[in-house]
Amino acid sequence: MRWVRTSVRLGLDEMTKPTEAQQTYAVEDAFQAEMPTKTLSLAEATTWLAIIADDEGVDYPLLLQGNLSRRTDGLAFNDEWCIAVRKKQPSELLLLHEMAHLVCANKNHGREFRTQLVRFLRRYVSLLHAARLHEMFTSAGLSVDPFTAT
Ligand SMILES: [Zn+2]
Repeated sequence: MRWVRTSVRLGLDEMTKPTEAQQTYAVEDAFQAEMPTKTLSLAEATTWLAIIADDEGVDYPLLLQGNLSRRTDGLAFNDEWCIAVRKKQPSELLLLHEMAHLVCANKNHGREFRTQLVRFLRRYVSLLHAARLHEMFTSAGLSVDPFTAT
């Protein structure tokens, strides 16, 4: 009986515990509210992503805007090397989030992804933005490489 009760409780915990992706999104949302990054037109965003791609030594991603579901602000398609956004004025944070997916070997929202996102912010937005997001990931218990390494 005890075994059964325990496994039921574990099951509930798993259902109510936010996933690593949800926790990462929550930190990014709080960060965007506290230190908003600029929004860019699609033309500006395309140019900005090309500059970043040049700098990172990767192909220019194709940027598309379309009717994604309300809950999805952006998507990265690795095979097509394409970033899709829902809004016509995507934020720099959203663009860097999707760009980080393109360049990361792991396609999840794990440590490699968070480290890459912080590095992109530091390089293409500002040191202060990068330092703050790094701090927020760390306080939320989400792993990320030390800031000096980004
Ligand atoms: Zn993502």
